[in-house]
Amino acid sequence: MNTKNTVQQATRRVLMLDLRRQYESIRDELQAAVLAVLDSQAFVLGPAVKDFERDAAANLSVKHAIGCASGTDALWLALAALEIGPGDAVVTTPFSFFATASCITRVGATPVFADIDPGTLNLSPAAVESALARHNNVKAVIPVHLYGQCAEMEAFVKIAADHRLAVVEDAAQAWGAKWNGKNAGSIGDIACFSFYPTKNLSAAGDAGMVTTNDDRLAERTTMLRAHGSRVRYYHDEIGWNSRLDSVQAAVLGVKLKHIADWNRARSEKACRYHGLLQKSGLASATTTEVTATAPIALLENRPEAQHVYHQYVVRAHRRDELRQYLTEQGVGTEIYYPVPLHLQKCFEYLGYAKGSLPESERASREVLALPIFPELTQEEQQYVVNAIVDFYS
Ligand SMILES: *Cc1c(COP(=O)(O)O)cnc(C)c1O
Repeated sequence: MNTKNTVQQATRRVLMLDLRRQYESIRDELQAAVLAVLDSQAFVLGPAVKDFERDAAANLSVKHAIGCASGTDALWLALAALEIGPGDAVVTTPFSFFATASCITRVGATPVFADIDPGTLNLSPAAVESALARHNNVKAVIPVHLYGQCAEMEAFVKIAADHRLAVVEDAAQAWGAKWNGKNAGSIGDIACFSFYPTKNLSAAGDAGMVTTNDDRLAERTTMLRAHGSRVRYYHDEIGWNSRLDSVQAAVLGVKLKHIADWNRARSEKACRYHGLLQKSGLASATTTEVTATAPIALLENRPEAQHVYHQYVVRAHRRDELRQYLTEQGVGTEIYYPVPLHLQKCFEYLGYAKGSLPESERASREVLALPIFPELTQEEQQYVVNAIVDFYS
């Protein structure tokens, strides 16, 4: 082996996400779509946005799809459309991205955090039930389809019917995911998507979407995203500017045609990781405990769920040391999420003590996301798993 090759071996990199590979595979289509928007000079809520909204609704089998500026805004719009505000409470998971909870305070309501299921790390229906027994002003529940696997939607729909709550799906990580054959984004009263560049369906910048089968909620969302105006310059309510722009819609329209293939590829990569990790002898798929002798625990993939593996996450013993070692080996990893929301400084006023939501807190100490994207190669996956094996041996 010559020296040049040896150097290449030592500096091997497996990126957490390599967006350039996806771009190269659809470059001509994307460039044509973006140039068509430039030629049209219709930049905001133009024909490209209408086309994407129509195709997105059809793709999810949902009646209405309303583009907006980000996933964060989609959550905010959904709660505002439901007329949730001061004096109301909303139950959600503390083990999610910050925006899942900040949308609640943005409309003036109070977040109530309920713990997660240790197998899937999704919001636990039983924990929501017990939170409802302690709070009488809850108006909605926000389950998050974490890492691309749907939360237990039947249970949440039933709880919501029993307690007369709205179900707001945070589907930011779950375009194309299903629960018992139904699309994420079509099951609750209203749902929110993010097209942030790292998401499984992604724009070339910030973008988001609200979906619903409810005509009234769709109409309110459409009004609120454009300054609360139904007729231009007449304002029924105070909304805000959260319009989707046409360049983003054009990019998303192209990618929507590929999303089913990309999700399938993600799922194959996840299967391969599962197999390699189990074969390595490090991992157990039957316990959530990680120990010195069984240092990796695989998350549960529920039989009702068609998981799209927006992220591939495991629990790891000595997680931070493993992550450091993988960084040295050139393997990108991430921690989603290192601090559960109930322990964030900005939510101190809610009064949650350390230890109050133990499964979320344990998950935040143990989870590690490994590289996953549709174009990840078998060799790269093998390299990642070999590096994990090396660390523990
Ligand atoms: C990304 C994300 C959001 C926020 O979306 P943005 O488009 O970044 O504003 C909300 N919730 C979850 C679960 C997310 O992953």
